[in-house]
Order: sequence, then structure tokens, then C-alpha cells
Amino acid sequence: MIRRRKVLLLGSTGSIGTSALKVARAIPDRMEIVGLAAHRSVDALVRQVAETTVKQVCVTDPEAACRARGLLPKDVEVFDNASGLLQLVQASEADLVLVAIVGTAGLAPALEAIELGKDLAVASKEILVMAGEAVMSAAQRKGVTVLPIDSEHNAIFQCLEGRDPASVRRLILTASGGPFRQTDAAELEHVTVEQALMHPTWNMGRKITIDSATLFNKGLEMIEARWLFGVPMSRVDVVVHPQSIVHSMVEFIDNSVLAQLSHSDMCFPIQYAVTWPDRVTNDLEALDFAKLATLDFEAPRDDAFPALRLARLAGETGGTLPAVLNAANEVAVQLFLDRHIKFTQIWQTVESVMQAHVVVPHPTLEQLISADAWAREVATA
Ligand code: NDP
Repeated sequence: MIRRRKVLLLGSTGSIGTSALKVARAIPDRMEIVGLAAHRSVDALVRQVAETTVKQVCVTDPEAACRARGLLPKDVEVFDNASGLLQLVQASEADLVLVAIVGTAGLAPALEAIELGKDLAVASKEILVMAGEAVMSAAQRKGVTVLPIDSEHNAIFQCLEGRDPASVRRLILTASGGPFRQTDAAELEHVTVEQALMHPTWNMGRKITIDSATLFNKGLEMIEARWLFGVPMSRVDVVVHPQSIVHSMVEFIDNSVLAQLSHSDMCFPIQYAVTWPDRVTNDLEALDFAKLATLDFEAPRDDAFPALRLARLAGETGGTLPAVLNAANEVAVQLFLDRHIKFTQIWQTVESVMQAHVVVPHPTLEQLISADAWAREVATA
């Protein structure tokens, strides 16, 4: 029987949100958007409501929410503020909540969705870095499926399907290497915002694009993988693959490796998360191996890009340290985008906040939230 998923899309006006709406248009018999949420992009949200039959939205910025109420048809319910995201999740008939809000603002609605027994499709890696243990244990308790949308994790999810966990040796995340893959370490200090925003293979939101340039994106993904797939950090590796065609791989104990390949378009993992475990046809471009010709792989430059080392340390230490790394990085990226710090100071800021932190092992959610707030304050100072 064909399963048509009712999807609540949080972060609908962003890069992932826009791709998710494209997927919904492409496979209407499998995916219906039943709710939308954004922060302040009211005009884009109004257009999205007009093209869907959505009757419930949330605009977290209160002034923007007022404007949305004036522009949207009267039968569209508009929730506002961060609490509005929770109200939207509670009021929604969705059976799948797709979290594509940049940063950690998606954590509370994700946990609420789990409590209500709704499946989760997670693009927002930051929430798994901050509170992966809490999210995954709540999902297990409630029998809720967590479907990864990040292309690397979606690839690993596909490679692991039906496999005995005891047969897995390593998860191998691929990294494009970002725009500075071949830049001299000494030059990195002079990188401009414009240069850092020019990603060689993916077209994404600003925060994740900077994270890709520093390699913190891959660091966050290592911790995300650790929680999503329940493996220790020592079994999560990274290899640089500049073409972004192999999205990630799993190495098994017999030294065989399975990989998932496609063009770099987020519609692929979004569609698979929605139609899982089924595969359905689409208009996305197929790979032509003769045209691709070469796929390159190289070791990451740990000396020039300290992000992987810091993420491994945070993931291995656990407790509140991953939340601190994530929060300090969010602040440092914004400071860089606002031209207050240099590119290389993103790493320095994160490292110094991590060094100043007294780790709380096995933290409660409140302790994670307070470590996050503490790290933001220290990183800003
Ligand atoms: P964008 O910056 O393009 O979009 C972010 C979305 O979140 C927008 O809809 C924005 O609304 C909304 N938003 C921002 N802050 C809040 C808030 N406080 N409350 C509610 N909504 C908010 O980001 P991306 O789409 O690039 O990334 C989203 C997430 O997906 C990130 O965690 C990223 O790491 C992850 N991801 C992204 C990939 C990509 O290809 N882009 C690939 C893999 C993962 P508004 O427009 O109104 O500001």
C-alpha cells in the first residue's frame, strides 16, 4: 500500500525547506505538506502557503508573525514565538516532522514531536550534536523513527539497512574539503566572508556553508553519526572527496565497503527520508559514470583545519562538551559573518571555550541547555 506522509516542515524558507517543498511537488502521492514554520521570511512563507493547502504555520519572530497574519488568508492559523513551534507540533495532524531550522532552535519541537509519537526527519545536525543521547533515547522509548536528511548520514542509513550492527567496522563520512581544501595554512587567516561563502559543490544556507569551509560541518557530522547510528567516535572516520558524489560509506568486518552515490542535490536524501523504506521514481538527474570519469579521495588536513580534532575530542569526552563546541561554533560563525573576527579565530574561539568548560558527564536536558547558554556567553565575550 502506498503511504502518503503528512509532513510538518520546520525551517521551510531555508535551503533544505525549499528543497523539501520541491520534493513534495515532485511526489504528491507520497508527500503532503501540512504545516510550515519560519523565523522572519514572511514573503517567502506567504508564497509557500499559497502553493500548498497548509492551514497552520508558525513565525517565530513576533513582529514578522503580525505581518504574516495581515497577509495570509484568515483561515490560516499563525502561531508565534519559540513556544509557537511547540504549539504547531501539538496542533498538527503531521505524522512526520522535518526539522530544518538552522542551529538548536529545533530541539524543543523535535522532542515534542517524539513525545507525540510523530516520526522525525532531521536536517538540523546541531540538535543531535547538542542532545543526541536525549533525542535518540526518547525516540527509542516512544518507538519513533529518526530519519537522517544530512546527505552523509542518509547515505550511511542506506548502506546499513538490514545489516547486523556487529558486522560494521567503520562509518566513513565524505567531506568535500570546502573552498580552502588546497589553500596554504598561512593564507587561511586572510580568508574573507565572500570567499568562505563560495562552496565548491553544494548550494546551502550561510551557517552550514561557513561550517563546511572550517570543516566544523564534518566535525558536527561525526558527532551526529555517533548518536544516529549508536557507534563510538573511534569508529567514525572522515575522508575528503572533492566531487561530493560518494555521500558516505560503511566498512564491514570483511573489509567490504558499501557506498551511496548520487549528484549533490539535497532532494535525494529528503525524498528517501520521506518515502523510506520505499524507493520511488523522480526527475532527479541520474549519474553518468563515463562523464564523471574520476572520483578522488584524500586524507583531511588535520594540521590546517583543527575542527575535526576538536569534534573528536568533544564526541569522545561526551557530557556537555559537544553542546559547548556547537554553541561556541554558532557564535563564532556569526561573529565571522558580521566581520568581527577572522576566519581562523572561529577555531580559536571554539577551542578556548571548550578548554574553559568544566564538563558535566551524563547531563540532563536542563544542564545541556545551560552549558549551551554558558558557551554562547563565553564565546561572545
Ligand atoms: P538556512 O539558513 O537556509 O535556513 C534556515 C531556516 O530556519 C529558515 O527557514 C529560517 O527562517 C529558519 N529559522 C532560523 N532561525 C529560526 C528560529 N530561531 N526559529 C524558527 N526558525 C528559524 O539553513 P539550511 O536550510 O542550509 O540548513 C538548515 C539545517 O539543515 C542546518 O542545521 C544545516 O546544518 C542542515 N543541513 C543543511 C544542508 C543544506 O544543503 N542546506 C545539508 C545538510 C544539513 P527564516 O528564513 O525566516 O530566517
